[in-house]
Amino acid sequence: MKDASASLAPLAQPGVVYLVGAGPGDPGLITVRGLRLLEQADAVVYDRLSPPELLELAPDGAERIYVGKTHHDDAVAEQEMINELLIGRARAGQRVVRLKGGDPFVFGRGGEEALALAAAGVACEVVPGITSAIAVPAAAGIPVTHQLLSRSFVVVTGQTRQHETVSNNGQSGDDDSLSHIDFAALAAIDTVVVLMGVGRLAQLAARLVAAGRPAETPVAIIERGTTSVERIVLGRLDDIATQANEAGIRAPAVIVIGNVVALHPALAARQKR
Ligand code: SAH
Repeated sequence: MKDASASLAPLAQPGVVYLVGAGPGDPGLITVRGLRLLEQADAVVYDRLSPPELLELAPDGAERIYVGKTHHDDAVAEQEMINELLIGRARAGQRVVRLKGGDPFVFGRGGEEALALAAAGVACEVVPGITSAIAVPAAAGIPVTHQLLSRSFVVVTGQTRQHETVSNNGQSGDDDSLSHIDFAALAAIDTVVVLMGVGRLAQLAARLVAAGRPAETPVAIIERGTTSVERIVLGRLDDIATQANEAGIRAPAVIVIGNVVALHPALAARQKR
């Protein structure tokens, strides 16, 4: 390839919505195609997990529209509004970049937005991104697979749809909120990655132990991974909730459970960001 920044796909077209993965946090971790499209956008629609530095890379005249979730609003209504906004801008002939943290199709409601655009007959292109589920552990020196330690990994959300719509504050602690998870199946996977799980950490850990995972299984929680304010807390299934609580860990954070976490001290010492 003559130009490493060339893509097989054409440049930004008017009347199209680009669902662009912004990467996990470090603005350098957006894809080349994502960056090129951002640089040509007429409107950038972003939310809480979009790295703020990336917004500066859109043209000066581009509109920047924040659509992050607010606490008390109805999540369904909010998503409807976002869909309508994207449809309206595209129909008006704008080149719309819908920036989403990580990969647009990993728990980002990107699938829902793509479906809404398709239903409205609006052209849409998905530009995959580097998901926090894999990249945040990697950047912290934790490989999700390893020939001897992990031959499988799973990514699961700690939140349910019901929980999101009823209360968005992560406080209610009923076990039902994890009823979407088959813990017996989960316990059989070598590396378990949990997104949106900080508020449910104690239950998650206890239920994995109940399902047969050893209490001493190593666990890492990485808060705001790949950013300058990244923090990591290490523990075991039987003490990680206490450790995270004492450290005051908050979302966004990735939880990694499995023997690969034991590689962190050796690998993190050699990684420079
Ligand atoms: N589409 C995104 C995930 C959206 S769900 C992706 O592929 O990465 C939001 C969750 O992602 C957060 O609650 C957190 O669990 C995780 N997350 C996203 N960015 C993160 C970061 N920089 N550090 C730690 N966790 C992050």
